[in-house]
Amino acid sequence: MTRILSVASECVPFVKTGGLADVVGALPAALAPMGCEVKTLIPGYPAVMEKIGKAKTVTTFDELFGGPARVLETVVDGFSMLVLEAAHLFDRAGGPYLDEGGQDWIDNAKRFAALSYAGAYIGANGAAAWMPDVVHGHDWQAGLIPEYLHNLCQDGPKPPFVFTVHNIAFHGNAPRERCADLWLDPWRLATEHFEYWGQISALKAGLMGATKITTVSQTYAEELLTSEFGMGMEGVLAVRQADLVGIVNGIDTDVWNPQTDPEIQTYKLPNGKKANKAALRSEFGLPDADGPLCVLVSRLSGQKGIDLLIEALPALLERGGQLALLGSGDPALEAKLLDMATGNPNVGVRIGYDEALAHRLIAGGDAILVPSRFEPCGLTQLYGLRYGTVPFVTLTGGLADTVINASPAALARNVATGVQVFPITAGAIANGFVRLCTLFAQPKVWGSLQRNAMRQPVGWETSAAAFHALYTQVTSKAN
Ligand code: ADP
Repeated sequence: MTRILSVASECVPFVKTGGLADVVGALPAALAPMGCEVKTLIPGYPAVMEKIGKAKTVTTFDELFGGPARVLETVVDGFSMLVLEAAHLFDRAGGPYLDEGGQDWIDNAKRFAALSYAGAYIGANGAAAWMPDVVHGHDWQAGLIPEYLHNLCQDGPKPPFVFTVHNIAFHGNAPRERCADLWLDPWRLATEHFEYWGQISALKAGLMGATKITTVSQTYAEELLTSEFGMGMEGVLAVRQADLVGIVNGIDTDVWNPQTDPEIQTYKLPNGKKANKAALRSEFGLPDADGPLCVLVSRLSGQKGIDLLIEALPALLERGGQLALLGSGDPALEAKLLDMATGNPNVGVRIGYDEALAHRLIAGGDAILVPSRFEPCGLTQLYGLRYGTVPFVTLTGGLADTVINASPAALARNVATGVQVFPITAGAIANGFVRLCTLFAQPKVWGSLQRNAMRQPVGWETSAAAFHALYTQVTSKAN
């Protein structure tokens, strides 16, 4: 039995802004059959406190970055969790990272220092009688854990720390003057620890202090070492390259199951998709059309290439294609998309966050678009594969690793599952749309893409085994 303390700022089904929450929520169940017992520590946001109900106190802090706090333990629908209740940091309206006006919470550095400190404290002392063998932190919000472990474990053994980078774009920086404020040892404000261009960087602390670093696809692991994708951390990662591994994300194949999905009309290919497609068209007010109905479910940000998509879209529409999109984020992108939908009967846009609609879109679309500038792993193309909704993706990160491009060679061997576009420009995406429409116009070829897609394993089995192997490796090395 290996005991893992997983520490993250979001976790399905309690709180989610992106793929991080899906991964943190899904891994424990995938690891259980391999003899791993995972407890997941998350902040006690109002939505979390509401969902957990009664819980046992396992740790108390008289003072944790400006107020009292405690760690509660409970099991919700079989999910073992630890919740950091700290009203002064987490009991407020708004999102996990942003206030109601869409600005970063001014005290984010402290809020997630508190999460990291609580994680390190449990790593060093256990929670009740439970002592983790490994502490596994996710993204910068858990990045200070090795610093606090260093401070807390001066006289005793220190558990190994596995750090997973879901997105290198977010560094969690704070001014150097704040070491004392964040309970950090100012002597360690140095290149080999958490100093980053004169500042404190929680991400760098995690990268430098980790026993092993994972990221969410093999290609992203390689991209992180380049100046194009490393977002300024490529030098740090070069130092840690020997301990960096790519382990691709899986999806929850029970939640995303076209045979049992309660949000959709159950289907088997090739005919069953028709009903969902018709329902989706009517929900979005789109007319019948000859080209592919393309769908997109995403945060709306520069990363996701939405501006490139807008520019390339005429190439799809001119060939009878359509777009149904669900997303929220950057207000300028939201406005542009709504504007585009107003002027075009073949474009439907919903601004907002809606899990049920996401299922209906994936089920009803012919193709799922993921035109990202960079994409550490990406989940919606995996949903698409499972539902026979052909992924149309840029060639980057996890999109490169999980989709097999419909090249002549792949088509000849009947292994293609989607369309990949490179370079990542509006022009290449437009050319990709021409290819997509040509493939769609050949029902036999399209049918084989769909069948190949649906056959591809997208669950957690393989990746959970890779995490298990990593945990085994770090526990045997450290002790
Ligand atoms: P990221 O984590 O960068 O946002 P991922 O593709 O890894 O991107 O994960 C995004 C997750 O969030 C997916 O599960 C996707 O379905 C979901 N999602 C994103 N935007 C929305 C939305 N507007 N409504 C419903 N689900 C969404």
